[in-house]
Amino acid sequence: MIEFKNLSLTYPGGVEALKNINLKIEQGEFVVIVGLSGAGKSTLIRCINRMTDPTSGKILVDEEDVTYLKDRRLRKLRTKVGMIFQDYNLVKRLSVLRNVMAGRLGHTGTVKSLLGIFPQEDLKLAMDNLERVGIKDKAYVRADQLSGGQQQRVSIARVITQQPKVILADEPVASLDPPTSHTVMKDLRRISKEDDLTTIVNLHFIDMAMEYADRIIGMRDGEIVFDGPVTDVTEET
Ligand code: ADP
Ligand code: ADP
Repeated sequence: MIEFKNLSLTYPGGVEALKNINLKIEQGEFVVIVGLSGAGKSTLIRCINRMTDPTSGKILVDEEDVTYLKDRRLRKLRTKVGMIFQDYNLVKRLSVLRNVMAGRLGHTGTVKSLLGIFPQEDLKLAMDNLERVGIKDKAYVRADQLSGGQQQRVSIARVITQQPKVILADEPVASLDPPTSHTVMKDLRRISKEDDLTTIVNLHFIDMAMEYADRIIGMRDGEIVFDGPVTDVTEET
């Protein structure tokens, strides 16, 4: 589903954030990337939806070379590849439902949808997805009235309402307390499996990764230093 070929990225200023990365991620895998802050995790996943442009090498998504996509085809890629952020990225003053409906913008993209007028089936999809993450009762509440864990669930509902094939999650639980982090990771994994999505999550705690990942990729200084199923992770790694 996702392939990196000799991917390198050097930021202006000279930081080599990615050093010749070669990696293949299969359809339906739930992959966790672990590594200290600054290892290059965020840069790596941002290359997949081209929020970041690599310096050299190639990125393939669903067998399509997306390294140089622009305009309409880039927007299409970003509809196929949804993203979840550490700080939820909700529109604070809008209702939970309106935030979830933002997941449809890439599909409709019409003036009507920008004005907040959506097809009935899209509204139903959004409500169903809020139910799947257990916060349907909050649909008409302002997003900033919710706790951090609830806001991250809204962002999960938003990303699945987008009906992507891939979900990228950049430190999705870094702002949450441990019990809440576990419920959010559980929801993310369950939904990812139910919808047969390919999911890549950046985390900086290995114990959390061990609990939820199919496969763990370890990064250090822009390189992959470990790649294998959870069962291969030992004390030394
Ligand atoms: P994280 O470690 O969670 O990826 P950071 O706090 O390092 O996030 O970075 C936050 C934002 O600042 C990101 O958008 C990142 O691209 C940018 N950033 C990080 N390091 C630098 C840097 N040295 N120069 C410019 N921007 C940076
Ligand atoms: P991680 O997600 O593992 O914390 P990042 O991908 O955010 O790592 O960062 C990798 C390296 O690139 C770090 O040294 C960081 O400071 C640097 N970096 C990240 N974003 C930028 C940026 N926009 N400009 C310059 N340097 C950056």
